Amino acid sequence: MPEQRRGTRQRTRWFAIAAAVAAAIVAVAVVFTVVRLRSGGEGPPERSLSELDADIAAGRVGDARIDDATRTATVTGTDGGTYTVAYPADYGPALTDKLLAAHVPVSAAARSGDSNAVADVAIRVVPSLLILGLLAWLLLRRGGLLGQYVNIRNGRGASEDVPDVTFDDVAGNVEVVDELREVVWAIREPQRFTRLGAHVPRGILLTGPPGTGKTLLARAVAGEAGVPFLSIAGSDFVEMFAGVGASRMRRLFDRARSEDGAVVFIDEIDAIGKSRITGHSNGASEERENTLNQLLVELDGFSRSESVFVLAATNRADVLDAALTRPGRFDRTIAVGVPDAAGRREVLELHAREYAVAEGIDWAALAKRTPGMTGADLANVMNQASLIAVRHEHDEVLSSDIVEAIAVVTIGPERRSRVPSDRDRRIAAVHEAGHTVCALCQPEAPDPVQVSIVPRGEAGGVTWTAGTDDDFVTLRQAQAQLVLALGGRAAEELVLDGDVSHGAMGDLRTATDLARRMVTEFGMTGFGLAYLDERDVHVGGAGADVHDAVRAELDAALGRARELVSTHRELLDAVTDALLEHETLDPDDLAALHHPPVG
Ligand code: ADP
Ligand code: MG
Ligand code: ZN
Repeated sequence: MPEQRRGTRQRTRWFAIAAAVAAAIVAVAVVFTVVRLRSGGEGPPERSLSELDADIAAGRVGDARIDDATRTATVTGTDGGTYTVAYPADYGPALTDKLLAAHVPVSAAARSGDSNAVADVAIRVVPSLLILGLLAWLLLRRGGLLGQYVNIRNGRGASEDVPDVTFDDVAGNVEVVDELREVVWAIREPQRFTRLGAHVPRGILLTGPPGTGKTLLARAVAGEAGVPFLSIAGSDFVEMFAGVGASRMRRLFDRARSEDGAVVFIDEIDAIGKSRITGHSNGASEERENTLNQLLVELDGFSRSESVFVLAATNRADVLDAALTRPGRFDRTIAVGVPDAAGRREVLELHAREYAVAEGIDWAALAKRTPGMTGADLANVMNQASLIAVRHEHDEVLSSDIVEAIAVVTIGPERRSRVPSDRDRRIAAVHEAGHTVCALCQPEAPDPVQVSIVPRGEAGGVTWTAGTDDDFVTLRQAQAQLVLALGGRAAEELVLDGDVSHGAMGDLRTATDLARRMVTEFGMTGFGLAYLDERDVHVGGAGADVHDAVRAELDAALGRARELVSTHRELLDAVTDALLEHETLDPDDLAALHHPPVG
């Protein structure tokens, strides 16, 4: 399909050249004819070459003027009469010789004031113009010498290839892909829209966190439509010389227009599309404004027939200038979110195709362990898993390699080289055992999938629980999460006789974040049903009240955690000892330690 389009485009181009050349030839011919008619109208009579020969031989020629440009000789006879003679091409010099040999004074035609001057100018100028025009056309057309020059200067900027990426390379974004299919359709067959008078979609803004596949989707749109992908990043425009940003933007769109359909992708559009109201004016912001204005001009300048489609991506849709999202510009916004468990499973399986992966892997279970991960994170997981498999000298990538890779990507690699002191190991074991007990003994809390006191990343130990993808967080689940988060601290208090380590810092942050959302967003607490945003909390004076409500929630959770670890002290000690002995426990180990009370 792309090849066919290419071919058509090539043929169209050659037609254009042929037409231009033909037009030039016709123009020259017309000029000649006009000149001929004009000079033939009331000029001297015309005679033939043989008559001239006879006159020369008879000595009846007084003088002659040779005009090689029009191949005419103007002859004045000795009797004073004047006539003209047309002679064949290249005969001029021979005729001149013949006349001179007969002692006839010969002059060359005067150039100016002559009626032939127009023809002269035409003859001299038209070919040069043709050549100049051809050169300019060669230089300026896209992909020409100038185009290549621009490419080199732009570095990672515009590229005009049709990407070999399709929607098959995108996993877990079903709704987004469905919306973008319409765009592909509009690029391929715009007449289906225009015939009904429908508005052809022109620009779509993709919003979402980094790594969710926005660039991938944009490339896939171009790949599916079989048109070139021209991309540029907003950050490319930062710190540019005055005027460069705007002209670069113009050039990008000019090139897109010269294509038979194209996708223009503006990454990090917030870098140029920040709201113009905020901030004071300086050189840099002026340049950004110029660039933004040029973008707006380009977006407004599309005619109905052009099939240039503009996609832009940002993770800061909130700061964009309202002018960008006006109808006819980026009139649609598609949120590209972090995938859910099913989506993550698809992404994992898609990327697994790039590696030699063992049969029968439980992808759904692995996907459950990766809540919050983006497509890019999951691609990274599979890559890390393959490296881990190599390190372990496995023949294929095993499930355990992927589990390890998930841990590496989320928290960091195990740091086995850092040998903790016995005291630190014991604190870590007690702390993680506290989390584990709170996970195992609360029905609403997720189950632990791995507990470890091997230092990993910044953490001294990890209690890993199965993530949840439930759409709704219930009050009981949220409270159980708080208890789970504070379980480490509660166990330290109990076992270390009231002394505590700073190891709970991360836990406190997690718990406080969740508690604050329960208070200010979920309306789950005694604070009431109000939804408060940051402004309300800081400026509106609700800050102190929110703080009190968060504290109350955390205190209640810590109380419940203390209760759990002391009533399940035996389990707590068993897990602590097992950790000190084995360092890492999996769900089977934990099940063996945990004998849930009947009922
Ligand atoms: P963004 O532009 O949103 O930051 P990218 O498109 O650059 O994200 O994604 C980076 C990489 O992550 C992609 O090249 C791809 O390998 C992987 N990826 C992200 N999202 C997906 C997805 N939905 N399906 C498959 N791979 C994905
Ligand atoms: Mg990107
Ligand atoms: Zn902890």
